[in-house]
Amino acid sequence: MAAQGPAATATAFEMVDIPGKGNGLVATRNIKAGEQILAETPAFVVTPRECTEAGIAAAVAKLSLSDRDVFYSLALADHLVPLGPHLGRFKNNSMEVYDTAGGVFLVGSRFNHSCAPNVSRRWDTPAAKMRFVASFDIEQGTELEIAYAVLCAPRDQRQQMLQRLFGFKCTCRACTLTGDAQVKSDERRAKTEIIRDLVPKLIARPVKLVELAKQGLALIEEEGIVTGTASFAWDCFQAAAAYGDVESAKAWAVKNLELQEREAGVESSEYKQVSQLQHNPRLHGSWGVAGRVQAVPKP
Ligand SMILES: [Zn+2]
Repeated sequence: MAAQGPAATATAFEMVDIPGKGNGLVATRNIKAGEQILAETPAFVVTPRECTEAGIAAAVAKLSLSDRDVFYSLALADHLVPLGPHLGRFKNNSMEVYDTAGGVFLVGSRFNHSCAPNVSRRWDTPAAKMRFVASFDIEQGTELEIAYAVLCAPRDQRQQMLQRLFGFKCTCRACTLTGDAQVKSDERRAKTEIIRDLVPKLIARPVKLVELAKQGLALIEEEGIVTGTASFAWDCFQAAAAYGDVESAKAWAVKNLELQEREAGVESSEYKQVSQLQHNPRLHGSWGVAGRVQAVPKP
């Protein structure tokens, strides 16, 4: 099926009808890991106060006629219908835009969900854009998928959350694992989440912090997930900065960039910021805050 609406102008993908899933986006050519697939300005954002049926309707009314048509063609799950056609679609399709109740992205909303996504998305505040970046090399004809919700939870929890928020049963490759593979996947994700919570709290014990962060990184990578990896390297960078270990801080900045490339992309403001720190980590606000110098293990 030919692409319609805003997707028609994009070069790396087209919107197609995907059996059992409605519309989705499919790669029209091979895409390299780290390639920015889309950087989209929200059609509108709303404040928490405006996040009502009337508030969303008012925002939609300000859109161009063609954008309005696209908005009304976005998914509206049965359980969200009672909220109204505007608030229901907003809840179904909006994405995180920092310091707002969320934004609507007329193209980005077409990505379907996977618990093992091949595309990462990241809100870039200074650029005021949502960036969608290839997490892996993607072959032409492959569906492009993002994560709508938290990935590092066991399958039952993920499925309940997706059902509650978006009204669908996920049948992604992680959710359809069976037997031992499924048990191991659940274990890796649950452990990663525990480690993720723990790591930033270990700032007083930087050696332990790095050891755990490395474990978290290994687990999430083994699970085939890129989203959320860069934050582990960032925690380690911050520890190295706090303890004034220049060489370790530089090495963790490099590691962060390597991971960030496939999460937020090289064009993101975050990537540019860490690129500076890679050469001069002393620029970071928490440099030396630990009050003593200590060697922090490198990647
Ligand atoms: Zn899934």
